[in-house]
Amino acid sequence: MNVLDLIGNTPLVELKKTSSELEGVSIWAKAEFRNLSGSVKDRAAKAMLTEGIEKGLLRPGKTIIDSSSGNTGIAYAVLGAVLGYPVRIYLPANASRERKTILACCGAAVVETSPLESSDGAYLAAKAEANAHPEKYFWPNQYNNDVNWKAHYHSTGVEIWEQTAGKVTHFITGMGTSGTFMGTARRLKEYNPKIQAVAVQPDSPFHGIEGTKHMASTIKPGFYDETFPDRFAEVNTEAAYARTIRLAREEGLFVGISSGANVQAALDLGRTLPPGSLVVTMLCDSGFRYLSDGFWGLTND
Ligand code: PMP
Repeated sequence: MNVLDLIGNTPLVELKKTSSELEGVSIWAKAEFRNLSGSVKDRAAKAMLTEGIEKGLLRPGKTIIDSSSGNTGIAYAVLGAVLGYPVRIYLPANASRERKTILACCGAAVVETSPLESSDGAYLAAKAEANAHPEKYFWPNQYNNDVNWKAHYHSTGVEIWEQTAGKVTHFITGMGTSGTFMGTARRLKEYNPKIQAVAVQPDSPFHGIEGTKHMASTIKPGFYDETFPDRFAEVNTEAAYARTIRLAREEGLFVGISSGANVQAALDLGRTLPPGSLVVTMLCDSGFRYLSDGFWGLTND
């Protein structure tokens, strides 16, 4: 097996204890922490780098450069190692310590940008450097590259349809670049236009749901179409933390905060749905990426 084949085809797991709070509605989640570099972002990163190589834009001598809240950067670092390219990542300084350590361990150069400017500051800094030295860099530009959402159109959406034998009724997930949401939901609606696509966002501009964006207060990704979601859902950071802890302690799923936010939003949605509904969401990464976070409530925090 090729190491790149460890990306995609993740298991879809039923959240039995969480679903038991609902009447006849089940919640299922894609175990994206099972991807090669440990997050959902492997899918988009692999597709963008592969396309860059095919188009001759990513070739020997070039460095991969982009901004990231951490997970795409880690995916680039791991894929850069496999494909033989150096990687330079711009990320907000308040990204978790684990993300920075993993990037360094995988050999990526890391440039920290102002935490106050969040993902926008990292994006603008990467853009300036990429545009200043185009001969040096390959800039996938994950926020504006259609290959990002299409990676999910060609993989995640197909997998969910097949794994639920076409029974999925709702797809709900948070958005960073919105690639996961836009690509997966587009594909599912092609299979069955009745499938409802629900976009999750943090309930305020200053939030702790790492990897996700409060769209109204940040630069909108180029391919994000705000008229596309059937519905929007908001999650409060404290509720996302609490759900993340419950997922570990009740479902055996030690996952990250955006996964907690997704499951909380799926549960809130499930309470409004008729029996027989099947809600699918994403477990974007693992709890190992947030060990240094205080919200676990451990005595050594
Ligand atoms: N959760 C986490 C932890 C992430 O890192 C990201 C990507 N920034 C997302 C969710 C959202 O993924 P997407 O960019 O496909 O919207």
